[in-house]
Amino acid sequence: MPDQRLNYVDGEWTDSHTGETFETTDPATPGEVVATYPQSDAEDTERAIEAARDASEEWRETPAPERGRILRQAGATLERRRDELTELLVREEGKTRTEAGGEVQRAIDIFHYYGAKASDLGGTVKSSSARDVNLYTTNEPLGVVGLITPWNYPIAIPAWKLAPALATGNAVVIKPATLAPGVVHEMARALEEAGLPAGALNVVTGPGSAVGDTLAGHEAVDAVSFTGSTAVGNTVYDTATADGKRVQLEMGGKNPTVVSRTADPEEAADIVAAGAFGVTGQACTATSRAVVHEDVYDEFVDAIVDRAASIDHGHGLDDPGMGPHVSESELESTLEYVDVAQGEGATLEYGGSALDREGHFVEPAVFSDVDSEMRLAQEEVFGPVLAVIPVSDFDEALAVANDVDYGLAASVVTDDHTEANRFVREIEAGVVKINQKTTGLELHVPFGGVKDSSSETYREQGDAALDFYTISKTVYDT
Ligand code: NAP
Repeated sequence: MPDQRLNYVDGEWTDSHTGETFETTDPATPGEVVATYPQSDAEDTERAIEAARDASEEWRETPAPERGRILRQAGATLERRRDELTELLVREEGKTRTEAGGEVQRAIDIFHYYGAKASDLGGTVKSSSARDVNLYTTNEPLGVVGLITPWNYPIAIPAWKLAPALATGNAVVIKPATLAPGVVHEMARALEEAGLPAGALNVVTGPGSAVGDTLAGHEAVDAVSFTGSTAVGNTVYDTATADGKRVQLEMGGKNPTVVSRTADPEEAADIVAAGAFGVTGQACTATSRAVVHEDVYDEFVDAIVDRAASIDHGHGLDDPGMGPHVSESELESTLEYVDVAQGEGATLEYGGSALDREGHFVEPAVFSDVDSEMRLAQEEVFGPVLAVIPVSDFDEALAVANDVDYGLAASVVTDDHTEANRFVREIEAGVVKINQKTTGLELHVPFGGVKDSSSETYREQGDAALDFYTISKTVYDT
């Protein structure tokens, strides 16, 4: 019997007024319904926004250390329920148990991190040029913030928006992704049990075009933080900025790893395989282009094909090397890119077919002889498909790495420190790594992209997140 889940509005678990529901299914066994959720509309969203508006005064006046205690207690509850949450995440989104467990742990750590930060939000004291004047700044909450989140990290991304928003005293309405909303419900439950006042957090499920669009456009929402595709992000931006809202956007990527002439091709293949094929390639920071010096190109291609061929598939709960795509349409989209790339003249070295079994499974794909102009080298695939692009020197490698509209994460594999330094300076990306995979983030440092990957104005995670959710006030006190 699937779970029957509800919206969380004004401290009550409630159905949509539409009376309609939608189902989530297990991507490895798509006939199996995991849960049903309210198919909410604009009216449900407006109710949630009003509840947040009504609660925002009390929540902003709640002493910051108390806000922190609630976050830390919710973090402890999530920790106790880690296995349950991990299984729910696997069953809705399809990650392997190891990947999902890591993501749940990240959400727990985020709650503890911002729980501690909330107790440490004091203003900065500045000295005044006048005698007898206390000059300082305080950081005040914005009011009501709307959070719109994607399915590919269904607990970590909501957590890294929600925890700093609440820590700084904002009331929140969150719209989780339709494909995997369950773990956001579990965060709300943990916060409710920890004593979060009614209305300070509201969760509304339903289509992005109704719930997300209402959040982006509603005049009582002060700021919107969005993570998802660049196409939807641009729409959210236009809607939200039309009435002057503060907006944060984190969007797609086409992330390169440059493999230098000085790199060990076997080591480079380990790094690239982990970045390209981990989480079934469904990470915004996934490696989708390997830009490889011609001296090590053939050895690299052989090594990366070996890595791809050694990956086993299965239900995430059995912890295989690779789980399924999240949905049939994501699988279809990956298969379409495989066709497009072959049509463009790239060489399919390995994989790229759907598996002949139940579930949205695909073999990882490795393409060689890719030209930077090809769609495969320019567009986000969001699946385990790697384009290997040959280059003849480091200048060309940098030019190719930067030759895309995106700029999220990038890495270089090199033994040459000067090359590494130059890469850091010249690569157009918000996250740069040396001799590491492009995926994987630490929670206490800023995260965001450049170019079409981000709105660039506000970063997420670490202290940077606190800037987005607050506005500073400068006080001259005599
Ligand atoms: P998506 O289709 O853009 O959806 C993201 C969120 O926006 C979902 O909650 C979606 O709701 C909602 N939405 C859809 N249409 C909307 C509209 N018209 N107005 C307001 N909200 C709307 O992205 P996705 O497929 O979930 O996620 C994959 C994408 O996210 C990839 O492009 C990936 O690179 C990107 N991503 C970026 C980062 C980063 O930090 N840069 C991190 C993770 C993922 P529904 O679920 O109901 O459609």
